[in-house]
Order: sequence, then C-alpha cells, then structure tokens
Amino acid sequence: MFNSLSDRLTETLDALRGKGKLTEADIAHAMRDIRMALLEADVNFKVVKDFVAKTRERCMTAEVLESLTPAQNVVKIVLDELTELLGATESKLVLSNRIPNVIMLVGLQGSGKTTAAAKLAYLLKKQGKSPLLAACDVYRPAAADQLATLGAEIGVPVFKGDGTHPVAIAQGAVREAVDTMKNVVIVDTAGRLQIDEAMMAEAVEIKRAVKPDQVLMVVDAMTGQDIVNVVTTFAERTDFDGVIISKLDGDARGGGALSVRAVTGKPIKFASVGEKPDALEVFSPERMAKRILG
Ligand code: GDP
Repeated sequence: MFNSLSDRLTETLDALRGKGKLTEADIAHAMRDIRMALLEADVNFKVVKDFVAKTRERCMTAEVLESLTPAQNVVKIVLDELTELLGATESKLVLSNRIPNVIMLVGLQGSGKTTAAAKLAYLLKKQGKSPLLAACDVYRPAAADQLATLGAEIGVPVFKGDGTHPVAIAQGAVREAVDTMKNVVIVDTAGRLQIDEAMMAEAVEIKRAVKPDQVLMVVDAMTGQDIVNVVTTFAERTDFDGVIISKLDGDARGGGALSVRAVTGKPIKFASVGEKPDALEVFSPERMAKRILG
C-alpha cells in the first residue's frame, strides 16, 4: 500500500533537498505536489486541505526557511504532520476488569470484520486471554462457517447459537463465556454493502443487549471519499471506540487509512495486513508515517 504516494512524496522532498536554500515559492510548489499526491491516493478532500494548510504554515516560517538545513526541517514537519494525522501515538486496546469483556465489531460487509474478529481473538489468545467468538452475522450464509473454520484454525471456540437471532446469539455467547470461563467475547456482526437501516438497527440492538466494553469499527483501507458517509453513520448510530484498518497490505491507494483518524476523531487501534490469522498489528502512527515517507 501507499507505493505511489510514497514515491511521490519522496520525490517532492528529495527535490527540496537538492536545492539547499529554499524560497517561499519552493515550499508552495512542494505543497502543491503533496496535495496532488494525497488526492491521488484518495485521501478525503477536506483532510487533504487541512493537512496541507497546517504543513504549509509550519514550513513557511523564517525559522525554517532561513535555517541551515531548510529541506531537512520540511521533511521533519511533513513527518510530524503525517504522524499527527494518523493519531500521533499508539492507542492500545484496554480491556476492563469485567468478566467477560465484550468487544463488538461493526462495519460494512466485505470490510474484513469476520477475519478481523478471528485475528483479534488470536492476538488476545497469544497474550494469555481466553477468547470466545460470537457469530452474529446470520445473513451472509458463509459468515458463521467462515468464523468456525478460522476459530478451529486458531483454537478459539465459536458460539453460533441458533444461527438466526443475532441479539440472542450475542447474549448467549456472553452466558457461554461465563459458563466456560472465557474472559473475552468478540462479537462479529452483520454488514451490508451499503449502509442500511435494518443493519444499523440490529447493531444498535446488539450493543444495547450486551453492552460491549469496546466497539471497534473495521474500515477497509481502500475506502475513498465515501469514508465520511460510512463512518459518520456508524458513529451516530452505534458509536465506536476505535478503528481496525484492514487490507493495509493491498496495493490500492489507501486513502481510507489516511483519512479515518481525522474523519472520526477515533484512534486506529489495529492494522490488518493480510488474510492469515496472525496478520494483525497494533497500529503505530509513527511507524506508518515513516513507512509512507520511505
Ligand atoms: P466481512 O464481510 O466484513 O466479515 O469481511 P471478511 O472478513 O469476510 O473479509 C472480506 C475479504 O477480505 C475476505 O476475502 C478476506 O480474506 C479479505 N481480507 C480481510 N482482511 C484482509 C487484509 O487485511 N488483507 C487482505 N489482503 N485481505 C483481507
């Protein structure tokens, strides 16, 4: 991901490095290139506008322009602002003392919820927790089977209940966790390709029924300008505490990954970087920003 963005930004910043002394026109030119590169990566338009305005303001100071190494200062500012855009610091998943903890995943169909549920279960298992997966996506016929297969692969039980009533399945999973001494329940919910009232109402119902300690929204890194519409609807209806950004290993443009923090104000907690159960990383804004700047 971000290959083209990365190349473009590196090229722009390298061109500045080659100049020695920088003028305001050099900065303006570089900012124009950065704006184009971000827009081409499908970063949300308003996010790009704010990012470039802030970066430009910090670069256009006498302190930067008249320093001995202006280009290095500009690179440092772009890195800082990119890190800030991605959330500044790591935001770890904090579990409460409640047993079982309940983590609910929401998001559109195909965003990567079911696989993220299994990956999260695997991560928590490796940290010594004993998770239980709740298969509440009863509409996509293969979802429960997919979760069962993934559960078997990582050695985590999957609660399917009657396979028809999502709220009852979520509640049943919590009872099952108490009975079988599991300390975290991860609830996989249904998504649709488009935001849809019935899906939202159901997610709200599940949330009301099991009162999750954490609601995490799974957002596909490839989501482009539509991201505002998607995340604000979830924010209004189910609210969420953090984001799992998925498919960060893809070769698409990655606008969603760069926009989501600014658009939601919620931290990106995990990055999903592949289809296998161990392909989930704690998200680090600084590491990501450094990777993008090459
Ligand atoms: P759901 O409908 O939200 O439950 O989405 P799924 O978990 O079924 O994922 C949809 C598709 O995306 C599946 O084919 C997954 O294997 C794939 N997928 C999910 N996360 C990732 C990821 O981080 N990287 C890649 N390459 N594929 C992913």
